[in-house]
Amino acid sequence: MKLHSSVLYAGAVCLLLIGCSPAPSTSPSGQPAGTDKRLQVVCTVSMVTDIVQQIAGEHAEVSGLLNEGVDPHVYVPTTSDTSRAMKADLVFYCGLHLEGKMVDGYESQRKKGKPYFAVTDGIPHDKILTSDLVATAHDPHVWGDVQLWMSCASEVEKRLSEVDPAHAADYAANSARLLEELKQLDSYIREVIASIPEPQRTLVTAHDAFGYFSRAYSIRVKAVQGISTDSEAGMKDVNSLVTFLVENKIPTVFVEASVNEKDLRAVIEGAQQQGSNVQIGGTLYSDSMGPKGTYEGTYIGMQDHNATLIARSLGGQAPERGWKGKLKAPVR
Ligand code: ZN
Repeated sequence: MKLHSSVLYAGAVCLLLIGCSPAPSTSPSGQPAGTDKRLQVVCTVSMVTDIVQQIAGEHAEVSGLLNEGVDPHVYVPTTSDTSRAMKADLVFYCGLHLEGKMVDGYESQRKKGKPYFAVTDGIPHDKILTSDLVATAHDPHVWGDVQLWMSCASEVEKRLSEVDPAHAADYAANSARLLEELKQLDSYIREVIASIPEPQRTLVTAHDAFGYFSRAYSIRVKAVQGISTDSEAGMKDVNSLVTFLVENKIPTVFVEASVNEKDLRAVIEGAQQQGSNVQIGGTLYSDSMGPKGTYEGTYIGMQDHNATLIARSLGGQAPERGWKGKLKAPVR
């Protein structure tokens, strides 16, 4: 950790002194104000990187370790990932065992008092979904519920402000702006999912990443693989999903950008052999966002894309270019 307690203390004292001018203060990295060195922040998955970037604004250089399309459940950190995290002023990760191969290292750093923070610490414990099928018993896919992701954004603001109190007011303002936008996004998703006729309101995907989305927006979910992708779907799983699709006349299933679609293809073929006309409705962003630099490559764009695609594919009402007309291609 580059920050020393004396520097943090100096920042805290400055905040307490009303009218304290920036001139005698120091930046969190110990540089005199004016030659302000930005905080170096490293994040894991892109959903976390996005909210950290928005809240940190100009005061930090934020980079992510996992790019689009990378599956966090099975991602093994490289030596360079570990070294980037060790050199950073702060590290943010999702937690709840999403980053299965990274989390032990992060937790042990945290126990040593290093600045590693799980954004999901901001979520009240009774809101976390549990599952008997994963070792940790927790479902990590909390970003599927925008209101829970808002709690994670507040956690980011809290941690940034603790480490860099000199800019706490900016972090609070950036966070308030983001939370307002997320609140509106949450209303949009609620509205378009509710427009799907009740009998068709079932979301079938490659792996079980939509449990929170299901609970928040009242849509049933079914998946070929469990909460982690760290295991192959068995024949039993495939067969029971085929039966479910055929019996319930489900017309559409969805692939996921970060998950191999082999097992889902087997389910579709099985259902078609039994006379079902099930089709692929499109690709959802479950555990990673769209391409960097695009609207779909932001948390808001990712959720807009998913909700709009799900609603329109299952017979609901949603604008073909999504919430604010920003989706790159019209959703059929
Ligand atoms: Zn997942």
